[in-house]
Amino acid sequence: MAGEKSFQYGDIVEMKKPHPCGANAWTIIRMGMDIRIKCTRCGRSVLLPRSKFERSLKRVLQRADSAPPVGEGASSAPRDSN
Ligand SMILES: [Zn+2]
Repeated sequence: MAGEKSFQYGDIVEMKKPHPCGANAWTIIRMGMDIRIKCTRCGRSVLLPRSKFERSLKRVLQRADSAPPVGEGASSAPRDSN
């Protein structure tokens, strides 16, 4: 399902607005009602309500379980809560 905004703990994501430090790559360090992301460059973390995070999310740069992008069709998703 390409194009779908799915994300999980540990993913590195790109947001619609880059961080003032110049980077636009964030690691998801907390999942829940709120999402906490951490700038990969300066290390500052930001807490966003899930709905706001989803609106601000541009794309996922790197999956936490970084499977190489080959069409293996291995959907070994670890118990995804909601
Ligand atoms: Zn930053």
